[in-house]
Amino acid sequence: MRSLRFLGADRLPHLGILGGDGVRDLGRATPDRQRRLLGGGRLPVDGPVVAVDRWLPPVAANRIFAVGRNYAAHAGEGGHAPPTEPIVWMKLRASAVGHESAVVIPAARAGAVDFEGELAVVIGRAGFEVPPDRALELVGGYTVANDVTARDLQERMPQWTLAKSLPGFCPLGPVLVTADEIPDPQALHLTTRVNGEVRQSAPTADMLYSVATLVSFLSGLVPLQVGDVIETGTPAGVGWHAVPRRPLRPGDVVEITIEPIGTLRTRFVAAAA
Ligand code: ZN
Repeated sequence: MRSLRFLGADRLPHLGILGGDGVRDLGRATPDRQRRLLGGGRLPVDGPVVAVDRWLPPVAANRIFAVGRNYAAHAGEGGHAPPTEPIVWMKLRASAVGHESAVVIPAARAGAVDFEGELAVVIGRAGFEVPPDRALELVGGYTVANDVTARDLQERMPQWTLAKSLPGFCPLGPVLVTADEIPDPQALHLTTRVNGEVRQSAPTADMLYSVATLVSFLSGLVPLQVGDVIETGTPAGVGWHAVPRRPLRPGDVVEITIEPIGTLRTRFVAAAA
C-alpha cells in the first residue's frame, strides 16, 4: 500500500491511500491505524477521493535515528574513511515536515544549509537484539528523507542533532510504501535534483551498512519501537563538498526520487524579514 498523511478538511491529520484513482481519505490518522498499516494489516480503502492541499510526513515518527557516512563515496568526499561501525545520531521529530513543504533558511545559517537525499526505513514491529537475517521482519515500510543540515553547526558542534534538527529540516514523503512492496531495500536507486539538475545518483546497494544490518545494529542497543524512523545515510554529491561549495539558496527546489516511493519535493525560502 502507498499511504500518506495530510491535513483534512477539518484541519486535522488524515490518513490517505494513494491508488489508481488518486488519494482516498480514510479519515483521522490515528496511532492505531498507523500501527495496523505498519504491521502489515490491510486497511479498508473506502473513503472519498480528495485533493491533497497540505502534505504531512507519511508517518508520525516515534523517534528518528539517522546514520552518517553510510556510502563510501560520500565519506570520501568529506575526507573521511568509511566508518568501522554505523555512526548514529537522533534527529528531533519536531523538525519533520511533509512533501511540498517550504523550509526556511535562517538568516544566521545563510550559505551553510545543505541537502542529503536518503532512504528512510519505518519500523512496523517492535524488536530487541534481532539478528541481521531477521531484521527486515521489523520493517513496516519505506519513505524518502531529506536530511537537511546546517553545515556550519555540524562542523562546529561534536553532536550533530541540532545542526540537523532546525525547523523543517526533516522533510519526509511523499508517501509511505509498505514493506511488502519493497522486498529488497538494497535494490533501489536514489536521485537528488536541485532546480532540476541531478546532484546525487546512487544505488542503495552502495550502502556500507545495509538496512538489515542497521536495523539489527540499532536493535542490539535499544529496543526498536513501532513508528521509529531510520534515515540510512546519503550518497556523494552534497552541496558542501562541491568545489566551489553550493549551499542551498532561497528559491531552490530539492527533489529526491526513490522509486517506487516517488519524489519528495521541498522548496527552500528566505526567513521573513
Ligand atoms: Zn544524512
